[in-house]
Amino acid sequence: MIIVSACLAGINCRYDGKNNKTAGVCRLVSLGKALPICPEQLGGLPTPRAPSEISNGRVVDKNGNDITHAFQRGAKQALKISLMAGCKKAILKSRSPSCGFGMVYDGSFQKKLVPGKGVFAALLENAGVYIITEENLKEGFLNEII
Ligand code: SF4
Repeated sequence: MIIVSACLAGINCRYDGKNNKTAGVCRLVSLGKALPICPEQLGGLPTPRAPSEISNGRVVDKNGNDITHAFQRGAKQALKISLMAGCKKAILKSRSPSCGFGMVYDGSFQKKLVPGKGVFAALLENAGVYIITEENLKEGFLNEII
């Protein structure tokens, strides 16, 4: 089983109530090989919600609220589900403060990227889960990962 960001599977869980539907991820879910999950919703955050970014190790929304605790709570619950389902691989949404891996926004809300990872991605990585983002999802890789 592969854990995937729910927004990549076409679930409208993004901050703006939309999704990031990605054909390859939807295919994995329809084959019963992937489990969609949204750590921000699991943390009790509403949808839609204000966009948020990581700044100095905290998660802050565009209104200036520190929502680190909700992100951590959701990431822990999402990790628990991932491990219960036996997931060893993950396909996550790039650049997200929860799911991003490699590069994330810098906290300025100016679309500037810095090296880093989202709160959920960091927990998955610590647990030994192999992570890619949808930007690395090529057909060959998809066949390989299945
Ligand atoms: Fe998608 Fe992850 Fe953000 Fe949820 S927390 S909307 S799954 S990127």
